[in-house]
Amino acid sequence: MAKYPETLTTLLSYLRKLPGVGSKTAERYGFHLLEWKEENLHHLSTILSEIKSKILYCPKCHCFLDETACYFCDAQKRDPSTLCIVSSAKDVYPIEETKIYKGLYHVLGGLLSPLEGRLPKDLQIEDLKERIVSMQIQDVILALDSTIEGDATSLFLKEEIGKWSAASVYRLAMGIPLGSSLDYIDAGTLAKAFLGKQNF
Ligand SMILES: [Zn+2]
Repeated sequence: MAKYPETLTTLLSYLRKLPGVGSKTAERYGFHLLEWKEENLHHLSTILSEIKSKILYCPKCHCFLDETACYFCDAQKRDPSTLCIVSSAKDVYPIEETKIYKGLYHVLGGLLSPLEGRLPKDLQIEDLKERIVSMQIQDVILALDSTIEGDATSLFLKEEIGKWSAASVYRLAMGIPLGSSLDYIDAGTLAKAFLGKQNF
């Protein structure tokens, strides 16, 4: 049976690592890339080689850093008594889109998953404690995925936060479909979830 050249096979195997990309889609993307101009492919490969080193995270909240100042930690524009905990830096953007939440953020960098070996020490929990205590946070909103891992992480954090401070802990109102991540929820549903946040 005829086989693709090795370089193309390797490219397809990488494309298949992307979410939702199976063999057929990988082939479609691979052949499409072959038609791109050389300079565009170079540009893409440069960006790919730099994303880890050039995209920086805020040392405080761990959101993506815009140039040097953190947009999400700007005390002039933010309510410093409220902290919203999210799993990933990308989760902050759909929340901002609702225009309802005005507090600070804390990105955990994942969810607890004993099966995948992700334990509390692997998440940004030590500095979460430091921030909640030193900034005298009053309200903590847990905006984690509505999945088994998200729920387990929420429960764990609720208990931990109770040991560190007297802050009220809320989670987003139900209405977020079970098993869903924040990035699949439309802004309207997410806004309702914030408005109806429940004591947890
Ligand atoms: Zn920040």
